[in-house]
Amino acid sequence: MGAGEGMNGQALYRRWRSQNFDEIIAQEHVTRTLQNALRAGRIAHAYLFTGPRGTGKTSTARILAKAVNCLAEPAERPCNRCARCQAVNEGRDLDLIEIDAASNRGIDEIRDLRDKVAFVPNEGRYKVYVVDEVHMLTTEAFNALLKTLEEPPAHVIFVLATTEPQRIPATILSRCQRFDFRRIPLADLSRKLERISQAEGIRIEPAALEAIARRAGGSFRDAESLLDQLAASGDAEITLERVRELLGGVSAQAVGDLVDAWIAADLAQGLRLINRLIDGGSDARQVHQELIEYLRGLLLLRAGGDERLVNTTPEVLARMRSQLAGLSLGRLVEGLKLFSQGEVAARGDVRPQLPLELAFAQAVLAASGREE
Ligand SMILES: [Zn+2]
Repeated sequence: MGAGEGMNGQALYRRWRSQNFDEIIAQEHVTRTLQNALRAGRIAHAYLFTGPRGTGKTSTARILAKAVNCLAEPAERPCNRCARCQAVNEGRDLDLIEIDAASNRGIDEIRDLRDKVAFVPNEGRYKVYVVDEVHMLTTEAFNALLKTLEEPPAHVIFVLATTEPQRIPATILSRCQRFDFRRIPLADLSRKLERISQAEGIRIEPAALEAIARRAGGSFRDAESLLDQLAASGDAEITLERVRELLGGVSAQAVGDLVDAWIAADLAQGLRLINRLIDGGSDARQVHQELIEYLRGLLLLRAGGDERLVNTTPEVLARMRSQLAGLSLGRLVEGLKLFSQGEVAARGDVRPQLPLELAFAQAVLAASGREE
């Protein structure tokens, strides 16, 4: 069993791919509009799906491809039971042509498309061309595509998907109906991961699950492949520490020590800890982000917020509570502000740990300045 493959030898991401519009999460503004158009029989010849990776663009394209050729009543499309739906689900539908523009920049495929687009569909009502990463097409391929889009045959539907709509020529954009997919909110991502884990019999700490969702940054595909990788390791239970190890993360222990140094206004100790982490192979920006996340947790606890909002283990929670005893709200807010400003400054910095060191020094200085 290779890395990234679940127990059935097929990636979780593929096995849990959405099969109908209702399963596409957090994109109701897209799926509702498409469903209404399908029911009304108002099908466009070209769609542009834009948005970050892993947000459901190609899954929605495949569902749309099923729906337009589905044999069930319009309100039930796609039914996932008829011969046409099943052919798509099994990846053997000849009327769904998927082109990955990133693989060879689409030259051969688009030329082939231009030659074959006039032929009627094999079995369905429509031929659906899904061009993924369409911004990668060469100018030549874009021109060929444009020719087809200018006079699309009645039986053809194009779905162009891209993470970078600004790289699509205006002549193409103007011929497409555009839908913008949004990043999946953390809560939705966590919920889906939880459902998958339960169904797959994967035991995972809630804090570990949320850490995966957080790291995936709104992408289902990234979240599911991380879960897959962790599940394949064969551990009885996936723990937060295990996730941190895999992600090259920083232990809550180390971040807690750093916070102790800040509370004690011990600049020398703080800088020592930071450099020990960096020398040990940790990524400076990640240390910085983990520190901010930790302080945010302290703020939530301080404000009497729900402990579950603080994504960590009971041991770390206990430590945070004792740290709060020596920390005023004013200092906490100030620290959080300085560290987050420093984090923004860190983007693209040549010496990655400097913004963290600087923010640490400022936070210590701010505290001692007030005492003087
Ligand atoms: Zn069907």
